[in-house]
Amino acid sequence: MPEPTIPGGLEAAASAKESPAAYDVERVRADFPILSRQVHGRPLIYLDNGATSQKPRSVIEAEASFYANSNANIHRGAHGLGSEATAAFERARGAVERFIGAHNGNEVAFTRNTTEAVNLLAESWGRAHLGPGDEIALSVSEHHANLVPWFQIAKERGARLVPLPLDQDGRIDLEAARRLVGPRCRVLAFTWVSNVLGAVNPVEELAALGRSVGALVFVDAAQAAPHFALRLKERGVDAAALSAHKMLGPTGVGVLWGRESLLEGLRPWQTGGSMIETVDFETVTWNRLPWRLEAGTPNIAGAVGFHAALDYLRALGWPAVEAHERALCARALAALRGVEGLRLRGPAAPEGRVAVFSFSLEGVDPFDAGALLDAQGIEVRVGNHCAQPLMAHLGAGDGLIRASAYLYNTASEIDALAEGLRRAVSKLRRPTPAAAKA
Ligand code: PMP
Repeated sequence: MPEPTIPGGLEAAASAKESPAAYDVERVRADFPILSRQVHGRPLIYLDNGATSQKPRSVIEAEASFYANSNANIHRGAHGLGSEATAAFERARGAVERFIGAHNGNEVAFTRNTTEAVNLLAESWGRAHLGPGDEIALSVSEHHANLVPWFQIAKERGARLVPLPLDQDGRIDLEAARRLVGPRCRVLAFTWVSNVLGAVNPVEELAALGRSVGALVFVDAAQAAPHFALRLKERGVDAAALSAHKMLGPTGVGVLWGRESLLEGLRPWQTGGSMIETVDFETVTWNRLPWRLEAGTPNIAGAVGFHAALDYLRALGWPAVEAHERALCARALAALRGVEGLRLRGPAAPEGRVAVFSFSLEGVDPFDAGALLDAQGIEVRVGNHCAQPLMAHLGAGDGLIRASAYLYNTASEIDALAEGLRRAVSKLRRPTPAAAKA
């Protein structure tokens, strides 16, 4: 199969690579077909990128082209089409390996998503290594995907979860973590970037802390991978997970990355086809890494689409993407400050955060505000954002409104959000008890 191409995106991407200043967001937007549609008769302003990103034409076409031209099952047939499909799938693995900074492809196992990767690690590693009295340290800002699997394995093995608190800005409090992560800690698992607060956690310091007590260090990179270079092998972590769909790729593809020695020692999690070397009614021997961790037919076309997404991101270049996002962050923080009654949670400065903003509006039901924004074509997310412990920690029982921007969002979309929020406040604000009496 030919390498995936970037039909619409190549020019925008190539020009952006020359210098961050050359980043032309309108040319980038032209690569994303959905961005030209309307919602409720208004131009779509998509600010729910934390949930899933939109896809450039190159990703959509790479996946369609795989089905149109190269579709076959992988790793099994002797026929040419099967070899072509296998080569495309393994090329995608190589692209992931390079993109995330892995040592080699043996460290990259494809999963359905981040959630499945955490389940794989927690169950396989946890069953073999956790016992009564052991501790698993997690931050209070974890997405449920990096909480519930550890909760379950802790319960099964008699281990205990240790919550790590946050500092004022919503980052994991390093001083507190140093007090709480002790010799009984067997796993330190934390989100690199909070899906609610946008705060970037100090991954290297936390990894060093985990290593100093001999714990397995796992980082949930679902919200980090779309925004900056992971360079995993330099960070000191043992394992990480991410989802393609949050970084321009298709749904149904995720990655568990782990140091080869760690993955080598994992008990097979799901078993069946493709993951064994030999089996009879007496014995079974396992396939080599990474296939041992990929039972059954994977999302082959999805992996091919993911490859195209990584090519697209690579061609844009991190310096350009990061500079654009920093500008959006500064704009959003200033714009949101101008909305009366808005209370932002998470870092108030553009540094050390990504363009994910969660907030409440005083006296306004967040769901009503979300509906009012939606009527204007502005798509944000409202609720607990799969982070109930964080909501409790923030005292945000009614939920928060979350606007999450990405590389194709514009300053004028941010301004439209602020304007929409002002409208929500003026239309929906409940009178305060004092005002109601008067
Ligand atoms: N971790 C974080 C920080 C997330 O934001 C999400 C998705 N919102 C997940 C894990 C789970 O990702 P997925 O649903 O793709 O498994």
